[in-house]
Amino acid sequence: MSRTPYPIRVFGDPVLKQTAKEVTELDGKLARFVDTMVDTMYDAAGVGLAAPQVGVQKRMFTYDVGEGPQVLINPQVAEATGEWEYEEGCLSIPGFHFKIVRPKVITMTGLDLDGHEVVVEGDELLGRVFLHELDHLDGVLMLDRLDPDERKRALRELRDVDLERLGLERLDDARDL
Ligand SMILES: [Zn+2]
Repeated sequence: MSRTPYPIRVFGDPVLKQTAKEVTELDGKLARFVDTMVDTMYDAAGVGLAAPQVGVQKRMFTYDVGEGPQVLINPQVAEATGEWEYEEGCLSIPGFHFKIVRPKVITMTGLDLDGHEVVVEGDELLGRVFLHELDHLDGVLMLDRLDPDERKRALRELRDVDLERLGLERLDDARDL
């Protein structure tokens, strides 16, 4: 049985600028929400998806960098080291990619669906997914990580495109976060 994916909120939607709230109820309803988030992430060919991107203001995200679907609830950075440049994409800003430098190795703490505390380490792409999704939980988009000139240029370009349409036509093999 396949679930209908959620519509992904795109740039301009105010939900993407809000700070998400801690998850307090870990129940069957949350588990079903996670299943649908994972389906939505796969359907959009993304490697990460934060709850606010489907309009839910909860501190949690799903991800899969090739080792199967995972969820991290109430995530926090425990340690961040090094520096790594990566051309980031975002399911909420389809068609746009920006080179962004962030720490390379990230250690995250959080909860799994059973409410157990977990510690996960991500190097390079996985570390990038962690930081990008965590930003979504704080209402921060990758555009906010650009230098002022680059940001201005990106915002100008964004004004001229129909992101919802781009999102629906997402057919390339982009790995957006
Ligand atoms: Zn994103």
